[in-house]
Amino acid sequence: MGRIPGRIVGEIVGVIAWDDVPDPERRWRHFSRDELACHATGDCYLELGMMDALEQMRVLYGPIQLSSGYRDAKSPYEKHKAEPGPHTLGCAVDVVVYLSRQRYEIVSAAMRLGATGVGIAGTFVHLDWAPIGWRGIRPGLWHYKG
Ligand SMILES: [Zn+2]
Repeated sequence: MGRIPGRIVGEIVGVIAWDDVPDPERRWRHFSRDELACHATGDCYLELGMMDALEQMRVLYGPIQLSSGYRDAKSPYEKHKAEPGPHTLGCAVDVVVYLSRQRYEIVSAAMRLGATGVGIAGTFVHLDWAPIGWRGIRPGLWHYKG
């Protein structure tokens, strides 16, 4: 656990490859590997605490649609960044939202379940469970410009 090839180990704990989780479809029954895997590489590394929080969120809130989960640091979304973001650590997801109330309820549920990073955009919310103090920017709440 805590091993993402090519990434700094120790920055975050409890990261595991989906394929190494015993019976993942039972533990996280509202999720599939496909929706969480890197769109560019197909790899799927996830932080256990985030996954358990997301599963609880789906139980409490109901169906949510993810547009992004794990991202390889070399994927198009990440490779231009000076420092790869929390998606590359397996502790972040983007949730599709369009309505104000839906945005409120998802963010509220995520914060109750320990999310430490919340980013608001027009059509999605970014949620992450990076450790408090991570890079000096967690906890954090921001909005995406444009
Ligand atoms: Zn995100």
